[in-house]
Amino acid sequence: MIINHGVRGSVPNSSQKNMIFGGNTPCVEIKTNQYQLIFDCGTGFSKVDFSNNLQSIIFISHFHHDHIQGFAFNGFSSDLNKKIIVTSAHSNVEKTHKFLLNYYNIPYFPVDYINIINRFEFMSFEDVVNKFDDLQINTINLNHPGDSSGYSIIKDKKKFCYLLDNEYKEIDTQKEQLIRFCDNSDTIIWDGMYLDKELIDKKGWGHSSVEQGIAFSNQILVNNFLISHHAPWRTDTEIKKLQQSISSNKVRFAAENEVIDF
Ligand SMILES: [Zn+2]
Ligand SMILES: [Zn+2]
Repeated sequence: MIINHGVRGSVPNSSQKNMIFGGNTPCVEIKTNQYQLIFDCGTGFSKVDFSNNLQSIIFISHFHHDHIQGFAFNGFSSDLNKKIIVTSAHSNVEKTHKFLLNYYNIPYFPVDYINIINRFEFMSFEDVVNKFDDLQINTINLNHPGDSSGYSIIKDKKKFCYLLDNEYKEIDTQKEQLIRFCDNSDTIIWDGMYLDKELIDKKGWGHSSVEQGIAFSNQILVNNFLISHHAPWRTDTEIKKLQQSISSNKVRFAAENEVIDF
């Protein structure tokens, strides 16, 4: 199964206007019989329930704060006695370790979290791909300031794609690459932070629109196309209205805590 622990972009927003779609920043978990695969550690990461019986791997898309700001806030149950692998295709293992070590350290954080908790095993993306060969793991470089790494996972012939954060451009080569990367997917998580009318002022900020997602979804085979990374100001009422205006039944707005078959 796939669990959306956080679907809000840029900054958490807890509000009575966000009760349905949720206010936590990005974190998606795939749970299988053997694995817990976690994509990003926004504030939704605090809800991931780690199990001793599963191999847990965290994939970081990039190091903007909304994708790592929950990393130190998972309570980890007291009987958890295993290491959790942390990897990123965005940066090599030394940089991945260093970015998180510095972020969760003085003066941004009260203690040297990673060394004190000693819970994480940092591993290069290539080593993860080679070590877990019953998972088919791929990555794609996304169009974002400082880059972001998208991921796809194929397990038992089912395919999942995670594509946060990305500024989609219909006219450049990314379109063809993305179509190849995403085709024949069961579930895709798409960055639809903005509406087309909002994108006019946000060129170069590294995000796509809801309308671009709908157009893209029509060019590939996919069962669930989930628009996520909702703008902090997007209320439940507005999202519901947008949902009603979409004729395609495969395109939906990601909602926090929803569980999807995988
Ligand atoms: Zn983001
Ligand atoms: Zn970003």
